[in-house]
Amino acid sequence: MSSPVAAPARLRHDYDYLAALTPGVLNSARLLAELMPADETQARAALAPRLDILRGQMLASPFWLRRMIDHGLAPRDLRTLDDLLHFPATSRADLRDFGPEMPELDPSSEAARQSVLVKSSGSSGEPVGVFKDLADCVHMWAVLRFWLGALGLALPDQPRVTLLCALPGGLEYESRLPTLNNGWLVRISTVRQNPLARLIASDPQVLFTDPAGLHWLAGQAQAPRPKLILTSAQHCPEDLRQLLAQRTGAIVLDYYSTTETGAIAWRCPRDPSQWHVLTPEIWVEQVQQELVVTRLRQSLLPIVRYRTGDAGRVCFGRCQCGRTGWSITDFTGRRACWFSAPNGGKADAWQLAWLFKYHNLSDFRLTQQGAQSFQLELAGDCTELSALLAKLQGALRNMGWPEPQIDAIRVARIDQRGDKPEPFRCTRAPAP
Ligand SMILES: [Zn+2]
Repeated sequence: MSSPVAAPARLRHDYDYLAALTPGVLNSARLLAELMPADETQARAALAPRLDILRGQMLASPFWLRRMIDHGLAPRDLRTLDDLLHFPATSRADLRDFGPEMPELDPSSEAARQSVLVKSSGSSGEPVGVFKDLADCVHMWAVLRFWLGALGLALPDQPRVTLLCALPGGLEYESRLPTLNNGWLVRISTVRQNPLARLIASDPQVLFTDPAGLHWLAGQAQAPRPKLILTSAQHCPEDLRQLLAQRTGAIVLDYYSTTETGAIAWRCPRDPSQWHVLTPEIWVEQVQQELVVTRLRQSLLPIVRYRTGDAGRVCFGRCQCGRTGWSITDFTGRRACWFSAPNGGKADAWQLAWLFKYHNLSDFRLTQQGAQSFQLELAGDCTELSALLAKLQGALRNMGWPEPQIDAIRVARIDQRGDKPEPFRCTRAPAP
């Protein structure tokens, strides 16, 4: 496969500023591991003091000050989790329209210089810029520490974490990880030459990847032997998860995360129907069918009742893994979609999600209609349509369709089945 290769990453080589964040990371990991009271009323009461963090963030946010005034609310009205129900929900449109006014930020400050703007995936709608401060940028290492402990896995000193990436551009780098036992982070791209050799050589203890990376890994002659493989953001088919666990000997952990909120929940290894919420740093409400997320941790960006667009039910209880707390069930955040491959097999359509990440689309849907025919519906402007179609055609060929035909049409909006965007769909009748 050929793809334009990105310029080398420009990384900072002074790691002291990251090392200074280690106490916060350790504190977060400890909080995530704390046991919740077995009674829901007591658990809610235990969580309520963390609303102090949120009140402080909202007071400092120009967006939230204005919105609270508009709704006749003040931060002191937020004392309990039930009070939160009176505060307005926020959405992707708020981030798009008011994103720069949401964080507490003096543009000339050190905090502003150390913050980044990350583009959301766009796999469930228009990509938006999401502000991340330094604490947000390293928070995943706290969550990883917590998961390693919960799964009974120990890391050596200077562990190696590999990020296996199938995104176009082929960005690769190696960086220090002062917040994880002085470890190393290696990013390897499957679109460059010989990625398997570099992956094996990186000998990771922890491997992060996406659905396209998981499928790629499952098709390789050799596999690395990490302790833990983590995947998120899109649908992970259960048979693929089991295959990779067998091939690599690793625990394969699926977690639920959005660019906007960070990690929200993790799929229980004992009961895959349960997604355990990352309490006490995340609070999830179920509003009708939709999961609505509030973040209860330090950040310059308040995330208050953020509508994820993902569907599920939230319940409190004791899981068969022994954990007590809130879990998401009936989670349909990442609705599975199998295309019907020419060889009679099935192909996970979510492997194509990366293609759409960097195109400025309001919304899209790719439907397999026949053996080799696909319809791509596009809502809003797409200035690079021919480039997108060429990439899509190439990706479908790589997945086994020798002559894929793509019919691209413009639509005012994508019709939805239920509340959840459905970027991939197969309407082709199954083979007799
Ligand atoms: Zn469990």
